[in-house]
Amino acid sequence: MAVDMRKIYNFYPVEPAPSADDLLTGGDVYYECLECKGVISSVSHIKAACACGNLTGQGGKTTVKDPAKVRVVRGKLK
Ligand SMILES: [Zn+2]
Repeated sequence: MAVDMRKIYNFYPVEPAPSADDLLTGGDVYYECLECKGVISSVSHIKAACACGNLTGQGGKTTVKDPAKVRVVRGKLK
């Protein structure tokens, strides 16, 4: 199931960008896939994945296949 997070949240890049081997997590932290532009929560409780499969989340944990293709962003409700 794909939820278009951009309709609900505004996203702002985290500065300075966290290093790829130590990505930030948190309730308001999201990962934007630079490959397909999908956005997934860093602590996704629902089963979620971006279109290209780089990001997959479930059970409060999100797995990143290629951290170099991820931008860490904070989401604020519109
Ligand atoms: Zn992707």
